[in-house]
Amino acid sequence: MRTRRAALTAIASAASLALTLSACGQNSEGGSKDEGGSTKGATIGISMPTKSSERWIADGNNVVKDLESKGYKTQLVYGEDDPAKQVSQIENMITQGVKALIVAAIDNKSMNNVLQQAKDAKIPVISYDRLILGTENVDYYASFDNEKVGELQGDYIVNKLGLKSGKKGPFNIELFAGSNDDNNTRYFFQGAMNVLKPYIDKKQLVVKSGQTELTKVTTLRWDGATAQRRMDDILTKSYKSGKVDAVLSPYDGISIGIISALKSDGYGSKDKPLPVVTGQDAEVASVKSIIAGDQSMTVYKDTRELAKVASSMVDALLNGKKPETNDTETYDNQAKVVPAYLLEPVAVDKENYQKVVVDSGYIKAGDLK
Ligand code: BGC
Repeated sequence: MRTRRAALTAIASAASLALTLSACGQNSEGGSKDEGGSTKGATIGISMPTKSSERWIADGNNVVKDLESKGYKTQLVYGEDDPAKQVSQIENMITQGVKALIVAAIDNKSMNNVLQQAKDAKIPVISYDRLILGTENVDYYASFDNEKVGELQGDYIVNKLGLKSGKKGPFNIELFAGSNDDNNTRYFFQGAMNVLKPYIDKKQLVVKSGQTELTKVTTLRWDGATAQRRMDDILTKSYKSGKVDAVLSPYDGISIGIISALKSDGYGSKDKPLPVVTGQDAEVASVKSIIAGDQSMTVYKDTRELAKVASSMVDALLNGKKPETNDTETYDNQAKVVPAYLLEPVAVDKENYQKVVVDSGYIKAGDLK
């Protein structure tokens, strides 16, 4: 044990020396892999999509914390929802000699060239939460069961409206999906539609806007204001009579936009109650909204766990080991099936938020006041 630790320390110093050299531009290959394989002390590049949503701030911080606890240095960048900016940030990190990359892509198809550069520099790439498409140069995928996220949202609507007996309804529902350049969007939507479509087919659920195809319901960059405008428009055009009973929303920021549009149209009163509105990410504003009785539910994904999975993958790869995976079939990125480790999402509403998100320490009770 002692010998191994001493060896690791020696390797770590060699690795950090190599990093310093490469940072000084003296290592043209960008590859400072020592023969022993360990690159403790190396810098890992982390590329996150945006700071406009709490979850990604938490993701970035958690990945940094986990990697540092394993003895790595980190460089964390945010792409501000601008795909070109994210690509150039990754290019910079490659030039600076990072030894692995963890990337949550803004546009899943924008990465081909930059990931070829990573490959040429022998830098392994972990696709974080969102699968990068169209390139072989993605080594592993760390995420949640994305289809299950949508199923949880669909199930919640079915249960709240009491659709299962077949006797209730018809109810009006409107459908929202995420950004069309995020691969998760189609998984979330597919999962939800697995549950909802049979009821739409039976006309127990009616989409008055007629907008049911994924291409018609996406929300570029998951933007809440865009969703709010679309909901406004739907209310004006399709609800001159009748009311909305449920809205499938894929993400808390979008749910907040939808609820604002509904409130501006008079929803939220005794004779015009808010519809069932789903969400995702257990963001503070949405958990507050759930407590206040506005948003109905969210899907909690423990980003602390996701960060651990991604950091462990990096650590394994840089030490010549095989990262742990639990799904080697589902995530075909159009160039190959990317081996994945998928975590379980959990539905959260007024009944269980305390236990699931507060008692677990994900959100501080004080932040919900
Ligand atoms: C993530 C969701 C998040 C969404 C918007 C998706 O890729 O999986 O958790 O709500 O992006 O940030």
